Amino acid sequence: MSATTTAFEFPLTRSASPVAAARRAEILADPGFGNHFTDHMSTATWTRDGGWHDLAVVPYGPLSLDPSAAVLHYAQEVFEGMKAYRWADGSVHLFRPEANAERLARSARRLALPELPEAAFLESIAALVRTDAEWVPTGGESSLYLRPFMIATEAFLGVRSAHEVRYLVIASPAGSYFPGGVKPVSIWLSQDYTRAAMGGTGSAKCGGNYAASLVAQQEAAAHGCAQVCFLDAGERRWVEELGGMNLFFVHDDGSIVTPELSGSILEGITRSSILSLAEDLGHAVSERRVSVDEWREGVASGRITEVFACGTAAAVTPVGRLVSRDGELVHGTGEAGPVTLAVREALLDVQYGRAEDRHGWTTRIV
Ligand SMILES: *Cc1c(COP(=O)(O)O)cnc(C)c1O
Repeated sequence: MSATTTAFEFPLTRSASPVAAARRAEILADPGFGNHFTDHMSTATWTRDGGWHDLAVVPYGPLSLDPSAAVLHYAQEVFEGMKAYRWADGSVHLFRPEANAERLARSARRLALPELPEAAFLESIAALVRTDAEWVPTGGESSLYLRPFMIATEAFLGVRSAHEVRYLVIASPAGSYFPGGVKPVSIWLSQDYTRAAMGGTGSAKCGGNYAASLVAQQEAAAHGCAQVCFLDAGERRWVEELGGMNLFFVHDDGSIVTPELSGSILEGITRSSILSLAEDLGHAVSERRVSVDEWREGVASGRITEVFACGTAAAVTPVGRLVSRDGELVHGTGEAGPVTLAVREALLDVQYGRAEDRHGWTTRIV
């Protein structure tokens, strides 16, 4: 199919054994995160000679992969993370899906995978959400988490980009990230491990980056922390991001700073949205380098009053403490700060249709 074709269709083959309505209701009452999957998935196949074909929505189920499939050996894989939100009137909306399409294409280029045209990406998501709309939870800050991904399926052990690739979208109902109210997390400063280096894959959303971060994540857990903060690989001095979330610093004059995109930081869509929303709320925002010394000194002097992390899964998470070999740093009172909570509310209000969508970020699907 050529990239100039605008209408991509994902014909539906309905599941013969969907989850029973009563069981689905039970799951939706307390879905957690990433535990349960809907009845269908979107799929498409790419071959070097045939381009993208076999676009479809099919019953959710295991894949059949040759044991020599390239992804299993050389990790040629990219993914996305996004959500469908049910509004109070029952309608279902996506948040900035075009940005996910664009980022998937960028990640694919870096991993030598084929680009999926934006229109095909958007329809793969919309078709799945329409088909499994009953799986979008209602109430609180629940949502249907969507996971588009692309893998090299060619059965070949030679080292080169694969000539056969599969694209899929799976969907998983997600409960409120903070069911008992917003709670700050503690983060561990990784001084031994880095996540990404200049020229590497840090700005691509790929599974390999996560594989490389897990041992640091274990170290964090051993120190009672939920997340890891990574520094730059060159000097081990500049703050980059967490394993799967971007970081923001709030100052006593109300200004907000996030580390600039250095080439090894993942460009979060939540990050970009917060830069706009914080400005709307009257904060001066900037993207620049932040050193770990500035972080320590800023907290000690009271200049840095709040720190928060952001990403699609949790939206905005207050960071209460930074823990490292050199000791512990408590941000303000260690509780969620007022700017963090205001930014969080402003973002969720747009995502759940409770506030005017001034930036044109939401798209209605159902
Ligand atoms: C996905 C991801 C983020 C957050 O991106 P969002 O688009 O805001 O969800 C941040 N860092 C890393 C490493 C990620 O993979």
